[in-house]
Amino acid sequence: MARAPLKGILETIGNTHLVELEGLFPTLNARVYAKLERFNPGGSVKDRSALSMLLGKIRSGELRPGRSTVVESSSGNLAIGIAQICRYFGLRFVCVVDAKTTQQNLAILRAYQAIVEVVTDPDPVTGEYLPVRLRRVRELVAELPDAYWPNQYANLLNPRAHERTMREIAEALDGRVDFLFCSASTGGTLRGAATYIREHGLATRIVGVDAVGSVLFGGPSGKRLIPGHGAAVKPEVHDPSVAHEAVYVSDLECVVACRTLTIREAILAGGSSGATVAALEKLAPRIPRGSTCVLVFPDGGDRYLDTIYNDEWVISHFGEVSHLWKQEESGL
Ligand code: PMP
Repeated sequence: MARAPLKGILETIGNTHLVELEGLFPTLNARVYAKLERFNPGGSVKDRSALSMLLGKIRSGELRPGRSTVVESSSGNLAIGIAQICRYFGLRFVCVVDAKTTQQNLAILRAYQAIVEVVTDPDPVTGEYLPVRLRRVRELVAELPDAYWPNQYANLLNPRAHERTMREIAEALDGRVDFLFCSASTGGTLRGAATYIREHGLATRIVGVDAVGSVLFGGPSGKRLIPGHGAAVKPEVHDPSVAHEAVYVSDLECVVACRTLTIREAILAGGSSGATVAALEKLAPRIPRGSTCVLVFPDGGDRYLDTIYNDEWVISHFGEVSHLWKQEESGL
């Protein structure tokens, strides 16, 4: 059935596809589904957070086209989500990014007419860019008239958006979700999904998926190569206690899972999606027969063509490891 026409691009946010992964875990006696958040118009799950943090203020008239400026620190998906919404409503958007931001993301932000400020020097004490970026955001908010900082790390409208993400999953599966695998960075998706699960009495076991080197679930801080999931500092909105358990995934495991996913399912997914696949693989021996597992896939692989899907990049960081997924190819 043809879909009814929509009023503008922002109405395409949400209601993303839930796809069964039939060939990914041939020996696992469970149904595995992926929620493909790349189908949001900005290409990621963060479109939902961006809309949630901005729409109320736009509707109430607090944010006014031609007068207000939205300021945020993000180098990736949230920035793209905000840039798109600000463009749609004619709001100015100053986006503070750092030297690690990819050229592709910068190009997307500029195409949406965002004003991009690049922080070039990390914090001299921690070596992290985030504190410097946040300092710059605070300065801009103080300087610019009528400025608004959504602050995804502390704004409860960020997790609130994902109560709907989980509602869509639950409704598609009649509430029968035994395991939810969800990666975290601000922790918004995880916390919002957990709220829905609790308020609707679902018997879902929530698995928080974190990067080795991220502090979100109490692990030691360390170097991480793949952006998107994981954090060097615990954000205010993140509540680790909502996860029944946390699974740590290394950069290499993430790469191998992404490559395997593409080969077995023809899904070109982002790094954090691969992390959920690797986490499920780790938990597989403990997943009861007949379970239903849902993996949240936050974005697509086209933003990782220079890293995860680039052979030279992989070899430079991990050596020749293609046998870890090539053996799959020959079996096809
Ligand atoms: N995966 C990707 C690719 C992301 O961009 C993000 C957000 N940075 C996440 C996972 C984690 O989402 P959240 O901020 O809701 O924890």
